[in-house]
Amino acid sequence: MRDIRGGGIGMIFQEPATSLNPVLTVGRQIVEALELHSALRGAAARERAEELLDQVGIPDPRRRLDEFPFQLSGGLRQRVMIAIALAGSPRLLIADEPTTALDVTIQAQVLDLLDDLRHRQDMALLLITHDLGVVARMADRIGVMYAGQLVEEAPREQFFAQPAHPYSVRLFAALPDAERRGGRLATIPGSVPAAEVRHVGCRFADRCGEVMAECRTSPPPWREIESGQRVRCILPGAAPAVPQKSAPATRRLRTIPGRCSRSATCRCISRSAAASCSAPSARCARWTACRCN
Ligand code: SF4
Repeated sequence: MRDIRGGGIGMIFQEPATSLNPVLTVGRQIVEALELHSALRGAAARERAEELLDQVGIPDPRRRLDEFPFQLSGGLRQRVMIAIALAGSPRLLIADEPTTALDVTIQAQVLDLLDDLRHRQDMALLLITHDLGVVARMADRIGVMYAGQLVEEAPREQFFAQPAHPYSVRLFAALPDAERRGGRLATIPGSVPAAEVRHVGCRFADRCGEVMAECRTSPPPWREIESGQRVRCILPGAAPAVPQKSAPATRRLRTIPGRCSRSATCRCISRSAAASCSAPSARCARWTACRCN
């Protein structure tokens, strides 16, 4: 297992201050990883550790080898974490919120470094983040997780152009937007279920504005929406519209071609509102739930 951990797969944790050993020098911690995952020992391992610090952009790497983590800034500590992860020459690098503890300038530098390293070392990068800005900048392919389960997968461009799962759509709706300045921010009602909850149907059902009886009886299967985009939801290929209480952000709403003539601006989110819909369209497959008016 040790060959895989650190060797086949490297890991960068989100808070280097608590992940690095505070009583060992930076050099000792990198050399430990090198000795576990390569044949290098002694002076050769130390020389390689210096190279790794240089590779991740740490100035004066020879001197830094003998420093302790508390002597380094947050950005330098994160670079040391990356150097340790690279010591095993992993084929896959998992970066769990690698820039959360950093200010925006250092965040940009660390993201540039990761992007550069993955190309130079021909290494896959699995980036875990809550920051859609980081996702937009770094990802080729995106997986959205809810309550410990993947609920949507898509290429980056497709995901940002047209998120499909109700959870993804509501994440976008919750983003602050200049067009909605002065309005209330959209939220997702309810909260994430506790880890020990056993789910029978869809894990998002308690918070989903589109929920139907069948959502609660069995786990929704994967559905192919477009080539390369799939979603774990029983809605027939159409994302729900964005829930809004403030000004409409029509650029994020989904058009349903050939269905409702007003689908480009449709905000239907609730079956309970169907009875009050003033203009249900027979062409919209979901008109019984429509409240666009
Ligand atoms: S399966 Fe049902 S509850 Fe789950 S996201 Fe889709 S519509 Fe909502």
